[in-house]
Amino acid sequence: MLYFSKSKYCGLWQCPKIAWLRKYKPDEVRFDDATLARMKAGNEIGDLAMGIFGDYVEVTAYDGEKINIPQMILNTKAEMEKGTPVICEASFDFGGLYCAVDILRRDGDGWAIYEVKSSTHPDKEVYYADVAYQKFVLENCGVNVTGVYLVCLNGGYVFDGELKLNELFRITDVSDAIRGESTQVEVHIALAQKILEDDAEPDIDLADRCHSPYDCAFWDYCSRHLPVPSVFDLYRLGFDIKVDLYRSGLASFEKLEEAGWKGSAIQNRQIDHALRDRGTYVDRNKIRTFLNGLSYPLYFLDFETFQTPVPKYPGTKPYAQITFQYSLHYVEREGGELKHKEFLGEPETDPRRALAERLCEDIPRDACVTSYNKGFECGRIKELADTFPDLSEHLMCIRDNIVDLLVPFRSGWYYKRAMGGSFSIKSVLPALFPDDPSLDYHNLEGIHNGGEAMTVFPAMASMSPEEREATRRNLLKYCELDTFALVKVWEELKRAAE
Ligand code: SF4
Repeated sequence: MLYFSKSKYCGLWQCPKIAWLRKYKPDEVRFDDATLARMKAGNEIGDLAMGIFGDYVEVTAYDGEKINIPQMILNTKAEMEKGTPVICEASFDFGGLYCAVDILRRDGDGWAIYEVKSSTHPDKEVYYADVAYQKFVLENCGVNVTGVYLVCLNGGYVFDGELKLNELFRITDVSDAIRGESTQVEVHIALAQKILEDDAEPDIDLADRCHSPYDCAFWDYCSRHLPVPSVFDLYRLGFDIKVDLYRSGLASFEKLEEAGWKGSAIQNRQIDHALRDRGTYVDRNKIRTFLNGLSYPLYFLDFETFQTPVPKYPGTKPYAQITFQYSLHYVEREGGELKHKEFLGEPETDPRRALAERLCEDIPRDACVTSYNKGFECGRIKELADTFPDLSEHLMCIRDNIVDLLVPFRSGWYYKRAMGGSFSIKSVLPALFPDDPSLDYHNLEGIHNGGEAMTVFPAMASMSPEEREATRRNLLKYCELDTFALVKVWEELKRAAE
């Protein structure tokens, strides 16, 4: 018998091989930070949305630590027979096809399905597939399904200090939108049956679907045959174009070159440097002009932020980026000493006001400020300026004076083979300074990237004093390295321009 859940169905919907790999090679799954964050947000939002219609009964049951599905199905039946108006995690099984409905709401002589998503966008086809599967299971269990709804976050909701669930969530009737998907459920299930019965791996090659709607968690496994580097490592090329080239037999840089493929100047240089020992490419004049645009006192700024699906602080929206930390290196005059300042908030309180005030104290209005990929820092400063009008003028001066140290790399004025197809600071720094352990993020304790910083900061609130102190130290060291890296990049650019 086929055992299937709605998440497996959605995986199958993206690619039939996902269903097979989940069954036969589950250890090959690799979740990236974005997927893990989405899962965490999904759980948090799912719990919160249960209360959207007022009182409810949740039928979740456990056997020890394991979820007890048979008991949940029995509980659901009992609550439906009682006429309970709102049942959460209502569970059904139709011949091995299982689903738990986030919210099942009594509606006249039938029941309406409400599927909760942590996204702010209800119009995703994979969501339609998800609810079409649920409707199929429920109807085959004899339930009169009167409506199908998606409950998503309202991206325009602004928290005013009191959480209003009916404003935080937006309910969309998708009963009509899923009609097309509903006709495909049996087809997909029959396909799943065929694939899962066979222990031979399905012959399904890389395609657009590996990247859509989500980056597939089996990418590393399915792409293990690719050469290194491959067409998928090319800088700024659409995934669909990469797939087309790969499918035309142009997976390697050698093949791309042999075929006379021409991309952008940076892509062509990436291929050329990968195939030959070209050393460092430097456009001295362009770099010199860029550096001439910087002035003293010169600042190097980097922010750390965290995001929550449910807004935490007044004036913020779902998934707002809350800036909680910065590091600031600066040099006051040519040849002057390198100095450092920093700010790190406390997880229990809104860090934004104190951070904005300190930023205005630490950076003069007319100073030249650098950051890496400045859109992020500029965006956060603009949000702070909008939130604190009394600091707005100073903050906007800082923002307007930011120069992006990414420009020389993204513009192709400086290139080394080791950068590959990425100009993120995490790629550029080791390419510029391969033998300097003090610039290696791997040598940091506890926190090695922005994703870890983002996760650990709110978690500090529930740590022991010792653990919290150690985490604070790690956060400060991590962010300090981010701006020290900018200083080193600037120094290297100056050296290259000589
Ligand atoms: S990586 Fe691509 S081919 Fe492999 S399972 Fe995922 S979607 Fe399918």
